[in-house]
Amino acid sequence: MTVKVRFAPSPTGRLHVGNVRTALANWLFAKGQGGTFVLRIDDTDLERSTKAFEDGIKADLTWLGMAWDETDSQSKRFAHYESAAEKLKAAGRLYPAYETQDELTHRRNMQRKLGKPPIYDRAALRLTPEQIAAYEAEGRKPHWRFKLEGRRVVWNDLVRGECDVDTASMSDPVLIREDGLFLYTLPSVVDDIEMGITHVIRGEDHVTNTGAQIEIFEALGAAAPAFAHMPLLVDASGAGLSKRDLEGKLAIGNLRDAGYEPLAVVSYLGRIGTSDTVEPMASNLALAETFAFEKMGRAPARFHEDDLDRLNAGVLHAMAYAAARPRLEALGIDLGERFWNAIRANLGRFEDAAGWAAVVRGPVHPVIEEADLIRTAAELLPQTLDESSWSAWAEAVKNATGAKGRGLFRPLRLAVTGQEHGPDMSAFLPVIDRERVARRLAGEAA
Ligand code: GLU
Repeated sequence: MTVKVRFAPSPTGRLHVGNVRTALANWLFAKGQGGTFVLRIDDTDLERSTKAFEDGIKADLTWLGMAWDETDSQSKRFAHYESAAEKLKAAGRLYPAYETQDELTHRRNMQRKLGKPPIYDRAALRLTPEQIAAYEAEGRKPHWRFKLEGRRVVWNDLVRGECDVDTASMSDPVLIREDGLFLYTLPSVVDDIEMGITHVIRGEDHVTNTGAQIEIFEALGAAAPAFAHMPLLVDASGAGLSKRDLEGKLAIGNLRDAGYEPLAVVSYLGRIGTSDTVEPMASNLALAETFAFEKMGRAPARFHEDDLDRLNAGVLHAMAYAAARPRLEALGIDLGERFWNAIRANLGRFEDAAGWAAVVRGPVHPVIEEADLIRTAAELLPQTLDESSWSAWAEAVKNATGAKGRGLFRPLRLAVTGQEHGPDMSAFLPVIDRERVARRLAGEAA
């Protein structure tokens, strides 16, 4: 079987860490299996869907390196949903109902008062032709409900194991609103059938839906695909991520603006909540090779921003000069491979490289904490600076002054770079022009 999966966002908002995690599970599974990844735009809700959100979703997926093999939009496929609806009507599985929202609410309240579950009572199925005619004459338009079989629908979920949903405990779902709008439930099944989707991978908030949708697959004469329901992301305290954060700082566009590397975001969201170590990966495809549903936990996955920061630093640390070079050039700070190799372990964000380039280029205001020590150090500065200079120089200064450890390295670093912390000096010192180092040791801004 060739795997074919789809990520099906509604273009009514931006992508964020929550829905990208679902997108990624689809992408990783498809790539790991040599399958097809479909981007399906679920835009049946023409009022809330916008082209701008759709474009944003595509831009975010592209930035994350998650190219899709095929794409389609539900708004172009209404004819397919109409014909599926006709098929269900002919089979007696889709029936018109005329209740208004107020009537339904009232009925649910009554049921609750009587201690009964608030399930739709199928009153519409008992309407006489005269009653229907009377509603129509009043100008009421029907909405359409799918008649559930009311049974235990069972499937073997790739994440949750054996699952069952008792459709007898659910209201018959509305598939078409009175204004003719197809709600998500039917179009999704029709598309999954017609596109030949083999695995539906989505958030666990859809588990109940799956019960009804499996009945719809079968009513349309199709075999249901395999299902994998992913646990939701929660914050460090275990609470669900807030809408405010998801739409704000945890939106993919915001992470991009905040300087995160796409590979860090992918490495994190692809591993969080699994039994594999969360670590910077070499590439999206390398991550895909390790992806397996069996590794996914059933408990909610905890999202920690600190972990994302750590991964971002890890990705930069491992980044080869060839990959960094065009970006350094774009920032006007390509100081060569030795520079990159010296500073990459000290970057939290790629743009931090600019700060270290400024230290190399000067002028830097040296911080002279130990005047005597620095005077001696200036005299002992090697004539040429290479990889071995720093330790040789420090050794010589130590022998001459008796300073050691922090008392030796800190004043030297402060004088040469003006900073308390920074790159490994063995690698960094030779990147700085010797003349400049000498002037800084003399207390000059250079
Ligand atoms: N558009 C639906 C959603 O965003 C898709 C769910 C699914 O994957 O079936 O929730």
